[in-house]
Amino acid sequence: MSVTVRVPAKVNVQLAVGPPRPDGFHDLANVFLAVGLYDEVTATPAASPRLTCTGPDAAHVPLDDSNLAARAARLLAAHHGVQPAVALHIAKDIPVAGGMAGGSADAAAALLACDALWDTRTPREVLLALGAELGSDVPFALVGGAALGEGRGERLTGVKVGGTFYWVFAVADGGLSTPAVYRAFDRLRPDAPPPAPSPALLDALRSGDPHALAPTLVNDLQPAALSLRPTLADTLACGTASGALAALVSGSGPTCAFLAADAGAAHRVAAALTASGTCRTARVATSPALPEVRR
Ligand code: ATP
Repeated sequence: MSVTVRVPAKVNVQLAVGPPRPDGFHDLANVFLAVGLYDEVTATPAASPRLTCTGPDAAHVPLDDSNLAARAARLLAAHHGVQPAVALHIAKDIPVAGGMAGGSADAAAALLACDALWDTRTPREVLLALGAELGSDVPFALVGGAALGEGRGERLTGVKVGGTFYWVFAVADGGLSTPAVYRAFDRLRPDAPPPAPSPALLDALRSGDPHALAPTLVNDLQPAALSLRPTLADTLACGTASGALAALVSGSGPTCAFLAADAGAAHRVAAALTASGTCRTARVATSPALPEVRR
């Protein structure tokens, strides 16, 4: 028997970042929206732990003990006092180090897959707490949909979304290191105010209207990501010129996200981005999206 969990990537529709805390993390007002680009993690019983990965970015995924899916399996096994004897296979479609929380998605998928495989029936609050130990974005990846993350992003409140939003993601060559982007943020914004969720953005998500959502999108990390990768400005400009309602860097980048009015507009923006040569590839996806467990 094996269990496969499909888990979506995320875009931060609001990422408000405060000053660094004494523990090095930053307080955030982080509105996550899960988008339909997926990794799949399959857990199969095995004599000893094994990890494999396929997909266009597979060469950039560590297959040692540092892999977030492997760490998740070990953490869940230790919590229940069972052997982490499982073969995990990651079918990776989320860009690696792209600011779309692919590693966190794999950790969430591994928690859900192993919990089902081992029949350990972990309560949801415990899974969320184990996820938060693995990384700030893992609790959201466990639930999907849309949520406001406070603290370092791990304290979640569900957010209502009133319709389907169409996105285009411009995937860059190479990744950006999230810690390096936060260091650049600290240099650029030593005076950052405490972060607060945007009522206008939450209203716009509820309305389901992309025209209302577009002017509310905000990513405080964008100037920092652009300072490390100035060519992203060309990618953002190309998407806007081809009809996107809004353009922003996704999380810590370098993936750029474009909100489109509808499916047709999204495909036109994607075609223009692909033809422009300002990104490696452009992908159309809809939100919100949810994780799915298949036995
Ligand atoms: P975030 O948006 O949460 O900052 P990201 O999307 O920028 O993350 P990830 O794809 O999650 O970045 O990967 C960041 C780094 O984590 C990779 O460069 C890789 O070394 C490491 N890593 C560990 N496990 C995984 C995994 N399962 N998939 C991808 N990367 C992983």
